[in-house]
Amino acid sequence: MAQLQAEVLVIGGGATGAGVAWDAALRGFDVVLVERGDLAEGTSGRFHGLLHSGGRYVVKDPVAAEECVVENAILRRVIPDCIEDTGGLFVTTPDDDPAYGDRFLAGCRATGLPAEEIDVADALRLEPRLNPQIRRAFTVPDASIDAWKTVWSLTRGAAAHGARILTYHRVIDLHRSNGAVTGARLRNELTGEELDVEAGFVLNASGAWAAQILHMAGIEDVGVVPGKGIMIAMNHRLVNTVVNRCTMPADGDILVPIRTVSVIGTTDIRSADPDEIPVTQAEVDQMLDDGERLVPGFREARALRVWAGVRPLFQDAKIAAVTDTRDVSRTHAVVDHRVRDGVDGLLTMSGGKLTTLRLMAQDLVDAMCAQLGSERPCRTAEERPPGNEEPEHYRLGSRLGRREETLQDEQLICECELIGRNRLEEAMRTRGTINLDDIRRVLRLGMGPCQGGFCIYRATGILHSVDRLDGAQAAGSLRMFLQERWKGVWPILYGDQLRQARLDDWIFQGLLDVEHLP
Ligand SMILES: Cc1cc2nc3c(=O)[nH]c(=O)nc-3n(C[C@H](O)[C@H](O)[C@H](O)COP(=O)(O)OP(=O)(O)OC[C@H]3O[C@@H](n4cnc5c(N)ncnc54)[C@H](O)[C@@H]3O)c2cc1C
Repeated sequence: MAQLQAEVLVIGGGATGAGVAWDAALRGFDVVLVERGDLAEGTSGRFHGLLHSGGRYVVKDPVAAEECVVENAILRRVIPDCIEDTGGLFVTTPDDDPAYGDRFLAGCRATGLPAEEIDVADALRLEPRLNPQIRRAFTVPDASIDAWKTVWSLTRGAAAHGARILTYHRVIDLHRSNGAVTGARLRNELTGEELDVEAGFVLNASGAWAAQILHMAGIEDVGVVPGKGIMIAMNHRLVNTVVNRCTMPADGDILVPIRTVSVIGTTDIRSADPDEIPVTQAEVDQMLDDGERLVPGFREARALRVWAGVRPLFQDAKIAAVTDTRDVSRTHAVVDHRVRDGVDGLLTMSGGKLTTLRLMAQDLVDAMCAQLGSERPCRTAEERPPGNEEPEHYRLGSRLGRREETLQDEQLICECELIGRNRLEEAMRTRGTINLDDIRRVLRLGMGPCQGGFCIYRATGILHSVDRLDGAQAAGSLRMFLQERWKGVWPILYGDQLRQARLDDWIFQGLLDVEHLP
């Protein structure tokens, strides 16, 4: 069996694991990061897209709010290309108590969040589609953040400092010796081969799956409470600013503009299994109703896709079980298994938010350094990972600008996301994957209104020639992609998207008969 050796093994390739690998590699540790699927295929690739200003938490969870205030500013500095500086508004809808606005402003002052009340008329000039009945409006430094770009950038940075990043490698067991965790057994999910990693320290950044990993070390009842939330992407930037309801955190109270779409979310329901998070019709209806409160006519817009993610909320086992996961603090905790369970060489990161990924990584690596007795200062608040060399935030027009430079020179493959043939072929070569969903995460292939209807058969043909696949492999990749897209489309089939689904169905079933391709 193959063997690997590392000073630090990081489990989980989401935002936290990527941040931890980047931080530890920058401090000079020899790092191996393992992820059972593709990078950011877990919660980080299924979140709401908001770089929190902290406003959501100023009244209910001031510690979480303060962390957001600080980390929001740092991330804007170190990963500008992953962030679109949309700004944010908190608005009092007719269903909200206007007096909450005063508590909100007081909370902002107490936590250092720069917020300002503006005239309702000015808010409506800024966002003409907003509910004209809103009674108060406040500006905050919310933004949208691209989780895939962020995770790619951090892992590329870690790799440039010697880290080895193993995707599609699942931890199936932890090795133990003399009361310490000393490494892990992995299974390559693509080939079925197993290999061992011998590690000086194991950092568990597996998010909502943390309890499953700990179970392998004989540790039970660690208090990770998975909280499911759904989000729906609507086919337009109905707003250009992040819009939050000015009220205690509740369901469906945030609308985030992300590239060419806007995303409404989210719900928060306790979930027993982080891999079983179905979307229900009732949740979809609730989100659409909530959208109407912020933007009248919301239901008339075209819903593109719905998905669910699962929060790794932390709750100490000693606290009585709760039913409402929204009551669990959004701050994070380093779980020290030496103190808690008498197990050395293992730390778990629990809770937190994507916005605080850098701080979470710093706290986890600091705790490891303290246990190892090795003082190595954190550098992630100053160093920019690759892809962020130009200190400029992402702009909506940047993709079109780049595309226009080569407009006449190459074939356009995905019209919705403006992906040319050269970029697609390059991504296929560098990723070395035959999974079109992996390519989607890098380029946003098939994420626009047609949901792959017009681009994905072209992309399959190109994959076929680039990777020299045989017909059966190429057909398998195509079918797998279509099945994944279908999961996010069927719960919101109405209006224009229903028409689109019928057209896509004609292309793939009627014309290409994909079910019976050789
Ligand atoms: C609905 C929803 C909306 C949210 N919206 C926001 C938001 O707008 N802003 C914000 O800041 N935060 C938001 N969050 C929180 C944020 O998304 C999460 O806190 C963050 O993405 C967690 O990152 P992570 O790396 O800890 O977990 P993950 O991204 O889930 O990464 C853990 C990884 O571990 C891997 N793994 C699991 N088991 C194994 C194994 N056996 N072997 C190897 N790998 C394994 C998984 O595949 C996964 O990729 C939201 C969360 C949810 C659920």
